[in-house]
Amino acid sequence: MEKKIFKRIGVLTSGGDAPGMNAAVRSVVRTALKNGVEVVGIKGGYRGLLENDMQILGPHDVSNVINEGGTFLYTDRCLEFKEESGMQKALKVAAEQGLDGIVCIGGDGTFRGAQDLSRRGVPCIGITGTIDNDVSSSDYTVGFDTAMNTVVEMVDRLRDTCESHARCNVVEVMGRDAGYIAVNTAIATGATGCAVKELPFDEDALIEKIKLAKTYGKRNFIVIVSEGMPDGFGEALAKKIQAETEVETKFARLAHVQRGGRPTLRDRVSASKMGEHAVQLLLDGKSNLVVVEREGKIVSRDIEWALMYDKVYKGKAKPEDIAKLDPKVYEGMVELANAKHAEFEDLYRLANSISI
Ligand code: ADP
Repeated sequence: MEKKIFKRIGVLTSGGDAPGMNAAVRSVVRTALKNGVEVVGIKGGYRGLLENDMQILGPHDVSNVINEGGTFLYTDRCLEFKEESGMQKALKVAAEQGLDGIVCIGGDGTFRGAQDLSRRGVPCIGITGTIDNDVSSSDYTVGFDTAMNTVVEMVDRLRDTCESHARCNVVEVMGRDAGYIAVNTAIATGATGCAVKELPFDEDALIEKIKLAKTYGKRNFIVIVSEGMPDGFGEALAKKIQAETEVETKFARLAHVQRGGRPTLRDRVSASKMGEHAVQLLLDGKSNLVVVEREGKIVSRDIEWALMYDKVYKGKAKPEDIAKLDPKVYEGMVELANAKHAEFEDLYRLANSISI
């Protein structure tokens, strides 16, 4: 088959923003231009595609963005795109604009959109960009490192004042349903405890730990809880710690501060590698793939596989989904998921065991 000549591709950022998305867009633009392909920046995720809100990006349009947080292409959660009528509008605009392919930077929702477009003839390649690190097919998502470093900086500040006043702070961190930010930052901040949605949390053991540490003269206590915990969990835990240990305890939700800020070196480098890889895949005639990091290497996975594996990892795969899979493929997914669970459990154990 003759190789398709790429003349023009689109790039968009969609779903929750993440530091490093700009670095990914820059890499996409620079790689494409070097290969003689024009790039159109689609504004506000899939909404820009529906509404034909886009601009041509020259090499200088991505100057001074590698160091910027947020996404200069803006992002949105476009529900209309999930409807067939929205999809038809998007296909029409993609054809009118002469888009030979689109690089879609975001999380799983973004990849579902990319899959829909790919199936309808617009080749799409996804790049994992979300602070939550909750794309199961990837060891790493762009934005994760910056968000964690922001948490560490904020919690270090809280610890200073906890030490002065002999206080405890229960700190809620982001991650949606995933506890990756929580377990890693709990280890890095020397937290006394950590609670995540995925694994059981022993409140009484934490209380006993604080009581014991108090007798040794410890004055500051940090407890990290992930936002996936039930509503009000962190606030209630703070009250309980104070009541049972007599250590004054405050609750802090770090919230969207974790989504902003200049991307770290790790995020800039990963985003740059992924952007180049995504364009290369499009030029090689590939479609319906997501660029991921696996054991330190940038590789790609079929979006269908990635979304199904995500369900297997999160225990959300329905028997009818599993029945459609080749048993060998399913077995492979279970094996990978088990290894990933074990790694997470190990981090969680460490987060709750080394503080005192
Ligand atoms: P993320 O990409 O970070 O997971 P969302 O879940 O909000 O964020 O998804 C981003 C966007 O992707 C949505 O606003 C919507 O436009 C598109 N999208 C999400 N799910 C689907 C789907 N099932 N089909 C088509 N498009 C989708």
